[in-house]
Amino acid sequence: MTNKIAFLDLATPHVELEEALVEVFRTSLRTASFVGGPAVEGFEEDFAKFCHVGHCVGVGSGTDAVRFALIAAGVNPGESVITVPNTFIATTEAISQAGAVPEFVDFDEGTYNIDCAKLRAYLETQCDTDRHSGKPVSRRTGRVISAVVPVHLYGQPVDMDPILELAGAYQLIVIEDACQAHGAEYFSHREQTWQKAGSIGQAAAFSFYPGKNLGACGEAGAVTTSDPGIASKVQMLRDHGQARKYYHEIEGYNGRLDALQAGLLRTKLARLLNWNAARQERAEIYRRLFADVDGVIVPSEPSWSRGVYHLFVVRVQQRDKIQQYLKERGIGTGIHYPIPLHLQKAYRRLGYQKGSLPVAEQLADEILSLPMFPTLTLGNQEYVLESLMECLGLQATAATWA
Ligand SMILES: *Cc1c(COP(=O)(O)O)cnc(C)c1O
Repeated sequence: MTNKIAFLDLATPHVELEEALVEVFRTSLRTASFVGGPAVEGFEEDFAKFCHVGHCVGVGSGTDAVRFALIAAGVNPGESVITVPNTFIATTEAISQAGAVPEFVDFDEGTYNIDCAKLRAYLETQCDTDRHSGKPVSRRTGRVISAVVPVHLYGQPVDMDPILELAGAYQLIVIEDACQAHGAEYFSHREQTWQKAGSIGQAAAFSFYPGKNLGACGEAGAVTTSDPGIASKVQMLRDHGQARKYYHEIEGYNGRLDALQAGLLRTKLARLLNWNAARQERAEIYRRLFADVDGVIVPSEPSWSRGVYHLFVVRVQQRDKIQQYLKERGIGTGIHYPIPLHLQKAYRRLGYQKGSLPVAEQLADEILSLPMFPTLTLGNQEYVLESLMECLGLQATAATWA
């Protein structure tokens, strides 16, 4: 008997919501309201509330969201923006599209998120201070570093307190990339309270690409912020730089959120807490199942974190062989991401060498994303465990023969 476990099941949630979603489409057709309008405003209001922020501005994608957030928060062309090498390229594309240059700080292998100690060391030892602005100037690029983009990777929040402390000391703008972290929570010791991902930096970017924890039925994204100035600037940027039709204060972009997607997202948002809770449960089950399995490192969750498990990423030796074995057993897996950004061909111009970000480089060969979605069954997870153990066992045998 062959089991088949997809890496991701996008169909089932939509079957369950089909009537409600079709109704959204019907309303959209009958009112001929396709871009902007009450559906967009309604979703923005709901999502702002969900994220505990004053403003949400719907945009065309997560990439738009990062780009608009950076520009609106005051990143200027020619500056440097720090982020991690282990993120989806959209993070750094958006930095480049804002006219800035990405610069990388390695991540912490326990959380997969930016290593604050390395960020501090970078600012302290690899930068000079700009005489006029007092901001750090990167020795590597000769540019002013104006912002940092912490990425809540795989749905696990970044340890934000030390980031904000450094940002305060070095006048850095903080834009959260929350594209994988809808609903994730972080306990701030500074504030003595749990905070939602997307409510901690000056602004944050969300993606509603279909595979994300909250996904549209197409492309969509949003910027969240509690700064009304940033919110209105993003509103202009997404709509050709106009606050009033045909009065363009700046050159902007076509980066609006479709009314149809907004309506679909609003319907799905009502389920997000349940879906996230289901992911958290499945993460706990994986942890329990793998607790005694040597050779598989499961992600840990610090006490200050309530992650939402966009992905469940384990570390293994001989990853490619294991991935192939699981594939033969009908189990879909992924690698997020196989090549760290600083070694991508697209970023050769940045001049990073192999060896410059060792954690990113080593873990890129070990990480494996296991099936993770709200309707994953216990049977599915046991089958994943069984298959992985079998594969590890086979390796042990082969090693004994050799
Ligand atoms: C998905 C994603 C993005 C980009 O979102 P799109 O909607 O695909 O443009 C940016 N950053 C991260 C970390 C992502 O996972």
